[in-house]
Amino acid sequence: QAGQRGGGTIDFYSPALNHEVQERLELERELRHALVRGELLLEFQPIVDVRGQVVSAEALTRWEHPRRGRLGPDQFLPLAEQSDLILLVGRWVLQQAMQMAMEWVALSPQPPCVAINVSARQLASGTLLDDVREALAASGLPPHRLELELTESMMQRADSREALNALRAMGISVAIDDFGTGFSSLSYLKVFPVDVIKIDRSFVTEAISDPRDAVIVRAIIAMAHILGIDVVAEGVESERHQIVLRALGCNRLQGFFIGRPESPAQFCERLRLQTLNPPPGPGHG
Ligand code: C2E
Ligand code: MG
Ligand code: MG
Ligand code: MG
Repeated sequence: QAGQRGGGTIDFYSPALNHEVQERLELERELRHALVRGELLLEFQPIVDVRGQVVSAEALTRWEHPRRGRLGPDQFLPLAEQSDLILLVGRWVLQQAMQMAMEWVALSPQPPCVAINVSARQLASGTLLDDVREALAASGLPPHRLELELTESMMQRADSREALNALRAMGISVAIDDFGTGFSSLSYLKVFPVDVIKIDRSFVTEAISDPRDAVIVRAIIAMAHILGIDVVAEGVESERHQIVLRALGCNRLQGFFIGRPESPAQFCERLRLQTLNPPPGPGHG
């Protein structure tokens, strides 16, 4: 709303909006420096198989902001995604996460894969393939221990499909993240082969409370398995979630009940403990 100020000037700017714009500009400027200053960090969240064995860990980015405290990815990645800044952040995540995944080899006879989120802009930029190759070479991580998480909308683009096929040809796993939140999910599995689907937390929550949703989730899992696709349930928050999802045929679980995102050191400790005290086999637990 334009307001009349003393002296006859008309102010077309809402002070609140102006403030917001300033904040965003400030945050973007700070994010550019955050990488150099080492303010970005990764947490890892375990993904377990039906026995409870950690088979994979998702790298989740955080920003230890000097004044605002620790920020979650939803608080700064959408901003980074609006510019090429996301490419710098994405490259850093690839390198850092793969380097850390190499440390797991010494701690576990069956070291987990590392799952890394890829943004739409990263995929569309055409540099993803090179960035991945570089990070693999620098870390020495075998490609089959890397999993890239993409969302359904990212698979729609024909040019993305080429890059994804190249990644899969290298032995890298491709996962569809937040599965069930988009449309025509099932047809994609036919057109574009993937290795893993991650059923979105909202869908998981509904499957717990609504028998009709449970039937849909069961069908998705069954179909995925027929196609040779692993299924991860996101947002497993309680024992009940775990029981229901296992009953629906889900073979991989991720969520606060299984383990919260944790520091690299905590995650290494988890692997150490698991090696000392492996989960019982499927017939015993
Ligand atoms: P996502 O890939 O779906 O990751 C799972 C999110 O759900 C994480 O939030 C995780 O902390 C949270 N979560 C896991 N288990 C539970 C649970 O049982 N209950 C609830 N309520 N939440 C759970 P986070 O770390 O805030 O990440 C949010 C999103 O930000 C991620 O969603 C991912 O899309 C994106 N993201 C995170 N790190 C990166 C990154 O390095 N690059 C890109 N491009 N995106 C990232
Ligand atoms: Mg993810
Ligand atoms: Mg997800
Ligand atoms: Mg999700």
